[in-house]
Amino acid sequence: MPSSEDTFLALDIGGTNVKSGLITRGGQILAFDTFPSTDLGGPETLVAMIAARLEALCGEASPSGKPRALAIGAPGWIRRAEGVVVMAPNLPGWKNLPITRLLSQALDIPAVLDNDANLYALGEWHFGAGKGCANEITLTLGTGVGAGLILDGKLWNGSFTSAAEIGHIPLQGVDRVCGCGRTGCLETVASARGMANSARKWIADRRDTTYLGNPDDIDTLAMQDLASRGDPMSLSIFRDAGEAIGIVLTGVFNLLSLEAAVIGGGGSGAFEFLAPSMLDVLSRHLVTATMDQIKVVKGALGGNAPLLGAAALLSAAGYWGRGWVAISLPDTCPGGP
Ligand SMILES: [Zn+2]
Repeated sequence: MPSSEDTFLALDIGGTNVKSGLITRGGQILAFDTFPSTDLGGPETLVAMIAARLEALCGEASPSGKPRALAIGAPGWIRRAEGVVVMAPNLPGWKNLPITRLLSQALDIPAVLDNDANLYALGEWHFGAGKGCANEITLTLGTGVGAGLILDGKLWNGSFTSAAEIGHIPLQGVDRVCGCGRTGCLETVASARGMANSARKWIADRRDTTYLGNPDDIDTLAMQDLASRGDPMSLSIFRDAGEAIGIVLTGVFNLLSLEAAVIGGGGSGAFEFLAPSMLDVLSRHLVTATMDQIKVVKGALGGNAPLLGAAALLSAAGYWGRGWVAISLPDTCPGGP
């Protein structure tokens, strides 16, 4: 059993689930907890609830002493330096919430904050499918569409709130209202929730499908199964979502000359069905590289990516000292030039 000094807490607050882990500096997850985001209630109750669950997690695996620090991944727009969630489109009532200070005080350990998609990207970049790339983007298809951007071997933060809000890039011909209050955002059609909403609309319109269950219950997991057996609804929705992601990704690749895009999050289970239309758009419009110089791949770490990304965040913040989670860039990115 490692001493408490060798462990840290990672908290990943998603639009659907809250996940947390007690993790060693070597990246081993000693204890894990998850519960639905809907259980959080309003911002008033969430801190006490999260703190209690994190304390229980510590007691489970490390009864002596405290972990060294807490890394928080929060959805939506954040102000990193102040540790504040400015707004979370998929968590009603979260406005200007000083979550870092509140949780740090409740647990009596230092805490750092980043966007949940950034933590996911850090995890895939350090340990998963983006490893070795100097310039890459990791997308998460979950309740929304998040992204983390690695440029010249660093997480790109931008000037104001968290960067790479790819889910809120508007698309022509998309008329759905987004959780952010705007209309036509990518995530209304390409997030896991957006794709399930497309299925519900398809069923309400009485279009052809082999799905026989309650429309309220459909999700991308069920749609994957249906698609593998030729369901026209699921295949069409995945094709359209893949195309929408492809259009946005093409813009990002052509703007930044990236080597790779890693697609993660729950909706990425449908990668094989999303990829053909996504890659078709890219192949027709990519100008900064040839298709065999880039890679577009499914994430390798699944739900553990943000927890492992938290390790990288704490390392960057200096909590492990120098040298931990060493980043070494090989001469070439896999699939790269
Ligand atoms: Zn939006």
